[in-house]
Formats: sequence, structure tokens, C-alpha cells
Amino acid sequence: MERIQEVVGRARAAFNSGRCRSLEFRIQQLKALQRMVKEKEREILAAMKTDLHKCGHKAFIYEMVIVLEELALATGRLPSWAAPQPVKRNLLSIRDKLYTCFEPLGVVLVTGTWNYPFLTVMQPLIGAIAAGNAVVVKPSEVSENTAQLIADLLPQYLDQDLYPVVTGGVPETTELLKQRFDHILYTGNSAVGKIVMAAAAKHLTPVTLELGGKSPCYIDRDCDLAVACRRITWGKYMNCGQTCIAPDYILCDPSIQSKVVENIKATLQEFYGADVKSSPDYERIINKRHFKRILGLLEGQKIAHGGETDEASCFIAPTILTDVSPESKVMEEEIFGPVLPIVTVKSVEEAIEFINRREKPLALYVFSNNKELITRMVSETSSGGVTVNDVVIQYGLLSLPFGGVGNSGMGTCHGKHSFETFSHRRSYLIKDLKMEILNLWRYPPSSQKKMDLVKLFVFMQLNKSQMALVILALLGIVAAVVIKVSFGSVLSA
Ligand code: NAD
Repeated sequence: MERIQEVVGRARAAFNSGRCRSLEFRIQQLKALQRMVKEKEREILAAMKTDLHKCGHKAFIYEMVIVLEELALATGRLPSWAAPQPVKRNLLSIRDKLYTCFEPLGVVLVTGTWNYPFLTVMQPLIGAIAAGNAVVVKPSEVSENTAQLIADLLPQYLDQDLYPVVTGGVPETTELLKQRFDHILYTGNSAVGKIVMAAAAKHLTPVTLELGGKSPCYIDRDCDLAVACRRITWGKYMNCGQTCIAPDYILCDPSIQSKVVENIKATLQEFYGADVKSSPDYERIINKRHFKRILGLLEGQKIAHGGETDEASCFIAPTILTDVSPESKVMEEEIFGPVLPIVTVKSVEEAIEFINRREKPLALYVFSNNKELITRMVSETSSGGVTVNDVVIQYGLLSLPFGGVGNSGMGTCHGKHSFETFSHRRSYLIKDLKMEILNLWRYPPSSQKKMDLVKLFVFMQLNKSQMALVILALLGIVAAVVIKVSFGSVLSA
């Protein structure tokens, strides 16, 4: 464990050298990452295939394309993100320069997770490099092939002291968490999120927690079920259900439950064919521990479709459960697998109450043609994000801040939001040493005159619009007098 302390120490010394402060350096490192993704595409896809049976073109679209988009955005926009932003002045600061500017935090820790093992490491890493930090990277040990590849590749392309990779499992993460960082971004489950936050508190280190939870999906009766179910099937069963923002369960009226099942079944046939197990587009559960955990969630449930499993290959078929009791085990924890429970509710009020009785989810999905119902659902609930008439797709829109609320996480990432997360927004007030007369009101000894001056100032601040009218009126009087005097002298000449 000595090595971990040394690695973090080297990253700090490298940060203190000041070399990652310049925008040129940051852009050069981001471009090196761009080269890495392009040159090592095949190796990266192969590692993910071994870890999760991820099919090449899907892994390319859902992981590598997003990383390439992040890189293109950060390299293109960094100069404008990092530029000073002027802020409003008041009457007293009218002669001063007031602005904010983002500065790097220092040495940050980024820990990724196994379900999108490349994306969950690279996306925050890009934001942290763009913001000018040193970054200690800890990929998930659960997706060991991708973790090892990241550890092999990053030092070939990036500054080795500034951006070290630590591999290993819980002991290594635990040791890392004892070190002092200037920010920690953790992606994973809420239980470990609490461990991370407790460790960070010892150093008053701020954290961003990208967690998960049970994301509800409400389907209204007034809805094109074929389209809705195609979109839901795509988001639920992609990556074998191991997606943090996958719809976890469906809420719908009992009268449409069987139609929902029929539409999802038809879509599964369309996507994966009659034999899902042999479809190259269908992934596997990451390991036997998760396989057994998910099987445990099926106990005592009514399986309307799927349910086939194969332990040797960690295969669980896309499964739909109907008439699920809100009290059942499958409704207690995040499923994180290809099992879709349907809980029936008799009204939108009941659906809202159901959602609000539980922890705040990472995503909330609503399918409906009814604008009023959508507005109601959105305004009477809370979640990290909300997507109407689609699922999961919000993740790819880098302009939207991505993150949870409450039990689903804190802080946001993606695009400029990652840059801001890994920066300190510093305030600047730059004065000169002239016009000291303007400052006399604040110096002792105090007096009634000074007090009146302050009152006048506060009055002027609070009544800016009336003051503007008064000033305009005064200017009008002055102009009238000037004109009168000028005309008077012309006439008398
Ligand atoms: P994981 O098992 O890969 O763990 C993540 C990291 O936590 C690893 O580096 C691991 O070493 C460390 N860790 C695990 N137990 C620890 C402990 N006791 N002490 C210290 N460190 C420990 O990932 P996971 O938690 O199984 O990931 C799945 C969860 O992540 C799901 O809840 C999912 O919703 C969530 N997730 C969220 C996002 C997001 O962006 N919000 C993305 C992907 C996954």
C-alpha cells in the first residue's frame, strides 16, 4: 500500500509543478487521449467483450462515441469555458473589475464502475484533465480486462505522473480513500457512496457521487404503446439491464398491462430473434454473484415472459414480471439486470404517490400524449433527471447536466458540467488605489453623516428603476437649461 501513497504524492508534486495549468498542455493531453481511443479501438472493444460480452458496434456507440464526443467538445470549447466571466457591478464597484474564473482543484480521484467500464472512467477523466487537475484513475476491478487495458494504455499516451492508474479491488480503493484529494468522483452503488463520503469528510474533500437506484417508468393509457414499448425495451435490456438509468420498473393502469407485455415481447423478438441466447446483441451478467442476486429477485414472482437462465455463461433471458407487489424483494433494491416488473396503479395520483414514497431516483420516465398529465408527473415528483416519451437517450446529450439527487447521487457531470465539477469558481475583485473618497463611509469613526450616506446608497440600490427615472428627469432639466442658455446667447448675439 506504500505504492498508493507514493502514486498520489507524485501526482501532487506533478500538479504543483504547474505544468497542467496551461490550456495548451490540457488540450495536448486531451488530443493524446483522442489518439488513444482511435488507435486502440479494437483492443478496447475486445476487453469489453471479454468482460461483459459487449457486442462491438454497440460498445462502440454507447461507450466510445460518447468519449470521442466529450473529447471533441472539451478540446474545442476549453478556451471559452476557462475564460474569465464578467459579473454585475454595483454603484460602489463601478470603477472596478469584477469577474469569475475557473481554476483547477488540484489532485482528484476518479473511480469507475464495471457496467460501462471504459465510459465511467474516461468521461470524468476528460472533464478533470480539461479543468487542469492531476487525476488518479481507479477503474473497477470487476471488469478486470478493461481495467488492465486502461492501466496499460493511459501511461503510453498521457503524462505518467499527472494521470496515474491504480488497479485492484476494495483494499486498494480503501487505501486510496485514506489519501488527501481535492475532489473525489465516485461512480457505483449508494452503500459504497456512503463509505466514500465518510472518507472524504476526514479531509473536507468535496465529492461527486454518480449512483443508481430504481428509476420508474410510468406508461399512461393515452399513449402509442408500440412506440413506447420499443423505446423501453431498448433501454431496459441494453447491456443486459446493467445500466444505471435503465427503467427499473413499469407503473401502468391494470387495463393496459397485458398490452404492454405483448408489445415488449414483440420488440424483443424484433431485436434479438427467437433465440436470445445466440444473439450477438445480447450481453451477459457480469459475474456469478450478480447472476445469483438477480435470480433471487425472481422468487415467488409471476413471470409473463422470459425467465430462462444459464449459470455457466451468466445468461438471464429478458424477463417481464406482472402484477408485482410493491412490497416484494424485486421492488426493494435496484434490479440492475434484465428483469422488468410491472406494478399496476389505478391513477396518475397513485403513481406519483408510489414514486414519492421511495428514494429519489436517478431518472424518471413518463410515456403519454397528455401534456397536462406530463406536467403533473414532472412537477409533483423529484429525480436526477426526467425524460418524457423516451428512455436512456438523455445520457448522450452532453449539454444536459447528468447526476442524481438524494439517494441517487450528488453533483453533475458531462461536457461543461464536468469541467465545472472539477474546477473552483474563483471570484476576482480588482481595484486601483485611486478615488479614496468613495471609501470614506466605511472607515471609523462612525457618524450620522456616514450612516445617511449608506442609507442613500441602499435606497438607490433597492430602487434602481425609480432612480433611473429620476436621473433621466435630472438629465432632461440639465439639457433644457443648456439649450436655453445656448439659444439665449445666439439670439442676443
Ligand atoms: P463496483 O463494484 O465496480 O464498485 C465501484 C468501485 O467501488 C470499485 O473501484 C470498487 O473497488 C469500490 N468499492 C467497492 N466496495 C467498496 C468498499 N466496501 N469500500 C471501498 N471501495 C469499494 O460497482 P458497483 O457499485 O457494483 O456499480 C453498480 C452501481 O453503479 C449501480 O448502482 C449503478 O446504478 C451505479 N452506476 C451509476 C452510474 C451513474 O453515472 N450514475 C453509472 C454506472 C453505474
